[in-house]
Amino acid sequence: GYGEDGIYRSLFPPVPIPLQTHHSLPALLFSGPLADPSNSSSPLLVDSTTGFTIHCGDFQRLAKSVASGLSSIVGVSQGDVVLLLLGNTVYFPILFAAILSIGAVATTANPANTAAEIERQLRDSRAGFVVTMPDLVAKIGKNGQGFPTVILDGENAGAKFFQDHPRFVRFESLLAVDESKFPSAVRIRQGDPAALLYSSGTTGPSKGVLLSHGNLIAAVSILASKPNDNDDKVVTFILLPLFHIAGLIYSGCMMIYLAATMVVVRKFDLLHMLQCIQRFKITSLPMVPPIVVALLKHPAVESYDLSSLKRAASGAAPLAKETLEAFLAKFPQIQEFSQAYGMTETTGLGASGEAPFGSAGLLTANHEAKVTNVDTGKPLPPHSRGELWLRGPCIMQSYLNNPAATAATIDPEGWLHTGDIGYFDDDGFLFIVDRLKELIKYKGFQVAPAELEALLLAHPGIADAAVIPYPDDDAGEIPLACVVRGSGEAGKSLSKDEVMDFIARQVASHKRIRAVTFVPSIPKSATGKILRKDLLQVTRSRSKL
Ligand code: AMP
Repeated sequence: GYGEDGIYRSLFPPVPIPLQTHHSLPALLFSGPLADPSNSSSPLLVDSTTGFTIHCGDFQRLAKSVASGLSSIVGVSQGDVVLLLLGNTVYFPILFAAILSIGAVATTANPANTAAEIERQLRDSRAGFVVTMPDLVAKIGKNGQGFPTVILDGENAGAKFFQDHPRFVRFESLLAVDESKFPSAVRIRQGDPAALLYSSGTTGPSKGVLLSHGNLIAAVSILASKPNDNDDKVVTFILLPLFHIAGLIYSGCMMIYLAATMVVVRKFDLLHMLQCIQRFKITSLPMVPPIVVALLKHPAVESYDLSSLKRAASGAAPLAKETLEAFLAKFPQIQEFSQAYGMTETTGLGASGEAPFGSAGLLTANHEAKVTNVDTGKPLPPHSRGELWLRGPCIMQSYLNNPAATAATIDPEGWLHTGDIGYFDDDGFLFIVDRLKELIKYKGFQVAPAELEALLLAHPGIADAAVIPYPDDDAGEIPLACVVRGSGEAGKSLSKDEVMDFIARQVASHKRIRAVTFVPSIPKSATGKILRKDLLQVTRSRSKL
């Protein structure tokens, strides 16, 4: 509800959050439904291709073995940072819990990132250890030779792989380590760092978002408190990446705590998803908007039995009203469609639930919000648009080693300035309508314009450049480069394709420039900041790029 003081308070009753100082996320995971003996033979993590299954009763033992192996074989100690360079696998949540249980910090990366991008994260996070798969080893500095490295799926790489990398540790050997090797002297406090995820925030390049055990404990407690809807059997299809905060907190933490069954897909493919829904009788399908769109458009959808589906959800980017309406009309078996809004900096929480068309849901329990006038910072009442600020137990600790960016994002009263423009209606539903910050979201993935602009400026034919979002039916937004040609030969002959290829060679595919427009100049403020809104207007008024 909206208060006299200009603060919106969550309409959900406050959720009790364990407050013991000495308490870790893994300790919480191992104390709830997951540890209930009546769940021990229930499937927890199922590989969507092979059907290989980890049961609830095995999770804690496996996580303890992996933790013991990371400590005794690999040499990971409390406070060390471990890079998880992995796509989705049933072992991802086990690794995450194992790393955190010995007081080490997990930093996650998109395996699609380039070697240069991974290198930057390794350096920035000061990671000393890597867990990855054979085909990703080449992306780690010096072909992986510089770091103690654990290899998953090593059996697919052939014997020569381990001959070439004699110091690599097979993940299977960690699974076999005796729990007596667990470093039981480790004491973890709620304020200790637990996860380091990368996000560009409101401006500039990607930064390490430091989340504490307390942040994760609060998020799991809040998410798990949602009243259980006596569904006989919830089976969730996990296609959202576990390296991103949404997948990590909902699937990698909360569903583990709740002992829910997850069918984990390694590489997303629409036909495979349809087969899996039929084969595993999936009941619950968390998605991002482009997948909702794909399900609407793909002709193969008619050929599968999707009647098991009961619940669907979409988050990470805005979902168009027309899309949601068409989706619900096409899949009448879906009884509940939830929306979710969150950011890496808020441990993935913010707003969620069943909501009117176009809304991202109700403000998360235990959190407060303000909607503020962009120029004055004054709080605004329902139905007025402004920048959304959030405060509560899931707000990150800081940007790693970046006090300036932290201070520009979290104010002295603890409000996180989200850089999103929105409003609440009279019933407390949040509507996100625009973005104040630079961020572009391609299929739900972050693209930081500042990173692409820095690359573009290094091209000999480019005098100046700015990257802005451009609306796209399939991806939500695509990165559009506004380029000022240089006056020399390289500038005169510069083509749009050359601009796109130049970037494509250097970045992960979701960050590619997908449209180019040549402009005479880039509008800038007196202080040299790119006036992105002015550029957006120019490009929107052009019918064709
Ligand atoms: P990330 O840190 O990658 O999760 O990105 C967070 C940003 O994604 C938010 O600040 C929003 O700009 C955008 N976002 C996330 N969820 C939604 C949503 N449901 N509707 C609109 N934008 C969203």
